[in-house]
Amino acid sequence: GQDRVYNFAAGPACIPENVLKQAQEELLNYRGSGRSVLELSHRSKLFEGILADAQSSLRKLLNIPDNYKILFFQGGGTGQFAAVPLNLMGLSPSKSADYIVTGNWSQKAAEEAAKYGKVNIVCDTKATKYTEVPSRDQWKLNPDASYVYYCANETVYGVEFQEQFDSTIPIVCDASSNFLSRQLDVSKLGVLYAGAQKNSGTSGVTVVIIREDLIKTPLPETPTVLSYKIFAENNSLYNTPPTYPIYIAQLVYRWLLDLGGLPEMERINVEKSKAVYDVIDSSDFYRCPVKKDSRSRMNVVFRLPDTDLEKKFLEEAGKRNMVELNGHRSVGGIRVSLYNSMPLEPTNMLADFMREFMDKHK
Ligand code: PMP
Repeated sequence: GQDRVYNFAAGPACIPENVLKQAQEELLNYRGSGRSVLELSHRSKLFEGILADAQSSLRKLLNIPDNYKILFFQGGGTGQFAAVPLNLMGLSPSKSADYIVTGNWSQKAAEEAAKYGKVNIVCDTKATKYTEVPSRDQWKLNPDASYVYYCANETVYGVEFQEQFDSTIPIVCDASSNFLSRQLDVSKLGVLYAGAQKNSGTSGVTVVIIREDLIKTPLPETPTVLSYKIFAENNSLYNTPPTYPIYIAQLVYRWLLDLGGLPEMERINVEKSKAVYDVIDSSDFYRCPVKKDSRSRMNVVFRLPDTDLEKKFLEEAGKRNMVELNGHRSVGGIRVSLYNSMPLEPTNMLADFMREFMDKHK
């Protein structure tokens, strides 16, 4: 509608308008049930249908092999910071894990994991102020580790792995902020998880995709609500799941399939991020601290010549209904989040605005 803003938030973020409309249409009476999805029992046939469709749509989108399970958790990405070590530390006798630290979120994950096992920080790009993906020869993996952990897209610093890597030990990937934004070979991963509130719906549900042979008995202190084993055995219905966020995710998966799946989504996302990076790179006014080969397509971060101009930039953008462009509170500056649901057209409008603002203030 006319009164909606262009929401460049880092998450919870915008949701495709068609998905919101469908949710609105179905809000009071879901498929003749006389009630909302908000009011459906998680044991009902209708909700079972939603869950099954979410799983099969996601399997189709990512070509998820048959020997992987799709699970739905509460507790967000932060819950998974604990769930990963609790469930996987015991995979090897060393009870140790390798962590690749490329920013805020992998750092937090490593700290949480250290409560439950031995954490090897195999590399840490802090000295670069988290402005790059370390090249493969900069980190040495331990062959006796239970798993190696990395964050595919660093939401705060705007750093994204452009390629997957190989490893003899299982790879755990936090894909919270680039999930379904590009093609991905799931078979290279042991575990992938992603909170839905950025690329695939709203907050409250976190998807875990896990290779079956890694579902083992977790550490004894593992809370039931974080147990991969119990959730796998009960198809994510051990207790009440976040029913409405799963429904919204299901609608987003279908929206992605209708659009042409991940190849098409990736093509659009490349075009969107290029529109903004091109303005930055063709100017002396905007400055992106991230190394070119490590730049995120999802979270484009940049600075202006001074913080007063940054404040003015945010104000002027706001007058044009472009909102939530401020950087993470820990770093400041500007952050443009271009998740799947942000269309190309408003992204181009933002790029035009950036050019205008520069011409006026440089
Ligand atoms: N991982 C990444 C990459 C994130 O961006 C975030 C949150 N922005 C988290 C984990 C933590 O997720 P949550 O807030 O759902 O706990």
